[in-house]
Amino acid sequence: MDFSIPQATTELLERIRGFLRDRVLPRETAILARGFADSEDDLQKLRAEVKEAGLWGPQLPRELGGLGLSLLDHGLVSEVLGYSPLGHYVFGCQAPDAGNVEILEKYGTPAQKEAYLHPLAAGEIRSCFSMTEPEVAGSNPTLLACAARRDGDDYVIDGRKWFTSSADGAAFAVVMAITDPDAERHRRATMILVPTDNPGFRLVRNIPIFGHAGGGYDSHAEIVYEGCRVPVSNRLGPEGAGFVIAQERLGPGRIHHCMRWLGICRRAFDMLCDRANRRELAPGERLADKQIVQAWVAECRAKIEAARLLTLSTAWTIDHRGFSAAREEVSLIKFYVAEVLGEVLDRAIQAHGALGITDDTVLSFFYTRERGARIYDGPDEVHKMVVAKRILKGYARRAEEAGR
Ligand SMILES: Cc1cc2nc3c(=O)[nH]c(=O)nc-3n(C[C@H](O)[C@H](O)[C@H](O)COP(=O)(O)OP(=O)(O)OC[C@H]3O[C@@H](n4cnc5c(N)ncnc54)[C@H](O)[C@@H]3O)c2cc1C
Repeated sequence: MDFSIPQATTELLERIRGFLRDRVLPRETAILARGFADSEDDLQKLRAEVKEAGLWGPQLPRELGGLGLSLLDHGLVSEVLGYSPLGHYVFGCQAPDAGNVEILEKYGTPAQKEAYLHPLAAGEIRSCFSMTEPEVAGSNPTLLACAARRDGDDYVIDGRKWFTSSADGAAFAVVMAITDPDAERHRRATMILVPTDNPGFRLVRNIPIFGHAGGGYDSHAEIVYEGCRVPVSNRLGPEGAGFVIAQERLGPGRIHHCMRWLGICRRAFDMLCDRANRRELAPGERLADKQIVQAWVAECRAKIEAARLLTLSTAWTIDHRGFSAAREEVSLIKFYVAEVLGEVLDRAIQAHGALGITDDTVLSFFYTRERGARIYDGPDEVHKMVVAKRILKGYARRAEEAGR
């Protein structure tokens, strides 16, 4: 395994880092204070500059106007962009759109690509992914209740979804609905594209998270689909392929998330160290002089590096040997990096004292928005269970083979 970064990637990372430092970070405080919804003009101007600089869509294939990076290279970019909550959005590689682009590219019909994929990849519209429901355990999507009934050449969708991230202002939703309740558990659901101006699509509310309902891109909506009628031609992929497509969507997305979280870790770590060096507890005595803070610094550094290497090695394995060869590692990084993220953010907040929980630094934004990291795309416990079962099964098999 070779972790040396090619010269071209190093140069690209440097350019992206420079853009973030010079153009994005100076605007960050003002944009976050106003919120994404009220900052759309500023964000679009920054996006135009990114395009002008030839840096748009690092993960997008070249045919879609992006840089066509490998998973590993995009992971490195994602880490750089994660340093600011605006990074991914400004560069056109934000969730949930990035995942929706991937599945539209793979499963979309020519008409769907024209109507949804191309404007989405260009950043002209936004999208959302509507799977989780309030009434059933999201960690077990075979329990989904939202149904799409066939009526002539249409589907009619009825159900309630929540935590449909970024639905506010999105042009369309990718909805996972049950089309055949009698099929085998993993063949029951289908992905359907629903324009949000459909009369059967009702955004009930942006759900408040730790006191903030957010708005626009930075929001999570509760949605009711009520007699929501869309043509069968809006189906994405074959009927019954909902689970397969959802899984495919999550795979590379986990690398992107983990590297983004590591970018957040770097920002929090920088802030922790700066604060420790600057804050005087008494004349001539700084926070950095306290052993307990030194331990935080050393432990955070070790954990960030360990999480980073594990994530890069997972991305490398997927790039070289395919997703199935990295199944175990993908689960490992999903819970491990999310835990490291929580710990590093918490240490940085603690070092800032009361300031750390105000909105006067970016830490509180990260803390409230990223606590969900341990829940979405599979809660920690599910990933730990999956990994442990695989490991234990391997031990049992080897013991049996050895006649023990
Ligand atoms: C910030 C954020 C953004 C999200 N964005 C989207 C989105 O865009 N679209 C979308 O469809 N959904 C989205 N979700 C929803 C997310 O996918 C679900 O929250 C997740 O699947 C967990 O489902 P649940 O909330 O119903 O929790 P449950 O399934 O009810 O689980 C609750 C808790 O039980 C524990 N648990 C669950 N299963 C097991 C197990 N097998 N063994 C041991 N313990 C277990 C875990 O601790 C888990 O947190 C988002 C969630 C968050 C927090």
